[in-house]
Amino acid sequence: MKPKAEPAGGTAPARVCPICGKPPSPAERPFCSRRCADIDLHRWLSGAYAVPARPEEEDERPEQARPEQD
Ligand SMILES: [Zn+2]
Repeated sequence: MKPKAEPAGGTAPARVCPICGKPPSPAERPFCSRRCADIDLHRWLSGAYAVPARPEEEDERPEQARPEQD
């Protein structure tokens, strides 16, 4: 059996603009336009700067058992 010759870099992946799904522009790829690139950047930045909603550490201090002095 002959091994199948796999085409190396023969087919270009049909990628589309991740923002709107339109064919990307060579200048702005993988986006189709500067606007979409800007939108993606904005999303990325807003996501990066977004403060993760972590539960505030409750000031959980054990009740100090004061010795009851009579
Ligand atoms: Zn787009």
